[in-house]
Amino acid sequence: MEHPENNSQYKGLVVNSGIEQPSIVNPYLKQMHRKRRQMLSVQEFVDGILAGNVTVLSQAVTLVESVRPEHQAMAQEVIERCLPYSGNSVRIGISGVPGAGKSTSIDVFGLHVLERTGGKLAVLAIDPSSEKTKGSILGDKTRMERLSVHPDVFVRPSPSAGSLGGVARKTRETIILCEAAGFDTIFVETVGVGQSETAVHSMVDFFLLIQLAGTGDELQGIKRGIMEMADGIIINKADGNNIDKAKLAATQFRNALHLFPASESGWTPQVLTYSGFYNIGVKEVWDMVYKYIDFVKANGYFDYRRNEQSKYWMYETINEHLRDSFYNNPRISGMLEQKERQVLGGLETSFAAAKDLLDTYWREIGK
Ligand code: GDP
Repeated sequence: MEHPENNSQYKGLVVNSGIEQPSIVNPYLKQMHRKRRQMLSVQEFVDGILAGNVTVLSQAVTLVESVRPEHQAMAQEVIERCLPYSGNSVRIGISGVPGAGKSTSIDVFGLHVLERTGGKLAVLAIDPSSEKTKGSILGDKTRMERLSVHPDVFVRPSPSAGSLGGVARKTRETIILCEAAGFDTIFVETVGVGQSETAVHSMVDFFLLIQLAGTGDELQGIKRGIMEMADGIIINKADGNNIDKAKLAATQFRNALHLFPASESGWTPQVLTYSGFYNIGVKEVWDMVYKYIDFVKANGYFDYRRNEQSKYWMYETINEHLRDSFYNNPRISGMLEQKERQVLGGLETSFAAAKDLLDTYWREIGK
């Protein structure tokens, strides 16, 4: 409506007619939203990964980590198509308790490896506490200052959802994608708390255990069987007035290793001291790693171990899916608490309760 003061009869001040106000909602918002959520096709994922496009690789890893069934189905297809292009890397597991110097060491190790072999490096992580911490303990970009800004390095924190088995499977699938994208060295980092080492061990060619002198970890390590998994034990912080203590610890580890049966690979695990912070002895650590790789490639153990790992992951994946299917079944989850009470109250034996639950489950999925 025309403003009354603009009427030609109006004698007061003339007011210009206003301009049309734009909508407060950005008309392009919908389009932008759609664009942001637009998902690549399987073909686009595969093409991008094989071309070494890190943005696409990163998106594919997000897809692998997604819990949505449609994402999972798509991720499986992408992995399947990338599989023939994978396998051409050296996979190194790196473990140690918090404070052992993993991130400091990985930063230095990564640069050393890149200088030595060229190529590209991916740093992945399996963080058993990631469900709570959202994967912030390991694989954090800020923890590896130089690698995180290096153009040939892909750093990815631990997947954060699900059980340790689930998290580990996603990391293993990520290895396949990274290899297809041309990464020829893969580091998989984990915290030294037991179970997660087994998971990392099951997906790497060389398992490197970072230890400290005089923390009492030596014995704990033996107890948990972690030392048995190690292909190399390296004692960090061998610098300043800590050098003698580190050397002593190395001797203790060497002695302890003698108590173990010979490893399947025919390789005798070595114990070295080094300092990640001062970059002392780093070359020797990697001389050891590459010596091992040459050794097991020559005697056939390299391929044998990878085949065994593929088998292991097939069964792990089956177990995981069966478990999920069982516990996520609404009928079962509705019964569990009551069954638990009955067992605790001595009204039913554990075995009878388990059998009843399983029978119910078979009936449910048979429907
Ligand atoms: P992470 O928790 O295993 O990742 O350990 P960090 O790499 O964060 O290291 C823990 C602490 O140990 C930091 O304060 C580091 O500066 C220190 N540190 C790491 N490597 C060395 C080393 O070789 N020598 C010494 N003296 N300190 C180190």
